[in-house]
Amino acid sequence: MEFFKKKNQCKHENFPPEKDIGYCPDCGQLIENQWFIVRCKCCGLKHKAVFKNGEIISAEKFCHNCGSKEFFAERVNKINFIDINYAVLVKTIIPVEHFEFTQSWAEAKETSNYTRKLLQQFR
Ligand SMILES: [Zn+2]
Ligand SMILES: [Zn+2]
Repeated sequence: MEFFKKKNQCKHENFPPEKDIGYCPDCGQLIENQWFIVRCKCCGLKHKAVFKNGEIISAEKFCHNCGSKEFFAERVNKINFIDINYAVLVKTIIPVEHFEFTQSWAEAKETSNYTRKLLQQFR
């Protein structure tokens, strides 16, 4: 029981954030690092995203530009040095049967060096 409990609760903390896709060294599941930002539904302004209770939400309750409290999450395919200040990293489990290996791997190779460079800059 303990083992299963631990497996289900794995946060994949040891899976490196600069990798786009790969296997978690703790639980062996296929993980994709997905970056998200949050935008105001009303004016489209970017807000800092946080990941809370399995949801991507805005760090601020209200938009400081228009006062709206409606936000939506937007996936960032290529994280850049502006968005990295707003973005939240969500380690998503990819069901292996839906994983198209060749296609995703080509994309992962293309972006991983770029992300690593960014992360080094911000360290
Ligand atoms: Zn894990
Ligand atoms: Zn707004």
